[in-house]
Amino acid sequence: MRLLVVGGGGREHALCWALHRENPGADLYCAPGNPGTAQLARNLPIAADDLDRLADAADMHGIDLTVVGPEVPLARGLADRLRAEGRAVFGPGAAAAQLEASKAFAKEVMAAAGIPTAASRAFHQLDPALDYVARHAEPLVVKASGLAAGKGAVVCATRGDAAVAVRAMLSDGSLGEAGRTVVIEAFLEGEELSVLAITDGRAVELLPVAQDHKRLLEGDRGPNTGGMGAYSPVAVATPALLARVRREVLIPTLEEMRQRQTPYRGVLYAGLMIDPAGAPWVVEFNCRLGDPETQVVLPLVSDGLTECLRSVASGGAPTPLALRDSASVTTVLASDGYPDAPRKGAAITIPQQLPEGVTVFHAGTSMDADGVLRVAGGRVLNVTAVAPTFREAQRLSRETAAAIQFEGKVFRRDIGWREAGRSEGVGAR
Ligand code: AMP
Repeated sequence: MRLLVVGGGGREHALCWALHRENPGADLYCAPGNPGTAQLARNLPIAADDLDRLADAADMHGIDLTVVGPEVPLARGLADRLRAEGRAVFGPGAAAAQLEASKAFAKEVMAAAGIPTAASRAFHQLDPALDYVARHAEPLVVKASGLAAGKGAVVCATRGDAAVAVRAMLSDGSLGEAGRTVVIEAFLEGEELSVLAITDGRAVELLPVAQDHKRLLEGDRGPNTGGMGAYSPVAVATPALLARVRREVLIPTLEEMRQRQTPYRGVLYAGLMIDPAGAPWVVEFNCRLGDPETQVVLPLVSDGLTECLRSVASGGAPTPLALRDSASVTTVLASDGYPDAPRKGAAITIPQQLPEGVTVFHAGTSMDADGVLRVAGGRVLNVTAVAPTFREAQRLSRETAAAIQFEGKVFRRDIGWREAGRSEGVGAR
């Protein structure tokens, strides 16, 4: 079997790791990959959004299954392109990927399908947007409608802050094209969950549920980031809640997408807020596996991932995943200055011997000409620990994160703090 993973971050390293584990004899390629994927796959020096060269590479290497990691190539139609050439590819086409690429579109779909989500309105002109802000309750949220690499949502305590955010996006073009349309929405109170559903557009197979930590600093303070760590499973994600999420969110969304003649195939990631009464509300949809959720969740899949992805990629239904009854915690190591202006270039030292159950996934790293591993991005490494209990996984992840060295290292020591406060053991799946 010849497999291609598109992308070069922590999510793609985790995908390569999981695919390699299930298929040690397969020819595995990653484009562009990173120094972590290079240990498992052959890295191809092709950018994740270079559709022409990716299609050529799939052809040249006779790829049987392509798994697309990031949202940008999906939104630009990589899956359509490969499918049109008769290849099995895991990920939605461009039209279906609009569920992530346009928040205005996602809100429209949710309204049509009656899916619980924050009340909102979309604007592309400054004055009506400011007018709406002036009449909105506080706190409120301003979002760039388009893809903004995790920087598009601004949670605003006051109308004044919201007006600043709206001006920056609509008037100053701070987020470029992505911020030409803004969505202004009500603030949702509660606890966030990431539900990742592998789907052929009708049936859904859920990955273990994760909780991400978006804020940069301990105690959920500081600016929003792409994610500073995650854990899985999450005790609040009970079977009853997940049944409700299927019924009220996933199935109606997929049905609405089918009705619009843009059936959704791939992984539908529902970013949810669970309100104090236990009801799920959709914060956002993503059209791909999460980051860092992938790094925390895939090590909990003991078998069946390749078959499930292959089946959906070929037009079939998702097949069952075998899951481990363990807990997983991922701590992100970022570089000083992240998310705005991360410092790059520092040399990285990773201990030779990692504790059992610990895997270090590379994200923003590069290997220099002398074979020295260096910081090359904002989020540098992800330390995932799998253990019988949440507390043990949390301890292993945190201690390994502390043992890895580079100048300007930043990480949170409180990943999973909600879970730690809830129980001693592994949460319900
Ligand atoms: P998004 O890009 O829509 O996923 O938003 C990024 C993060 O901002 C989310 O993970 C939440 O932490 C926060 N956020 C977004 N929208 C809301 C909302 N309506 N209420 C509360 N927090 C939100």
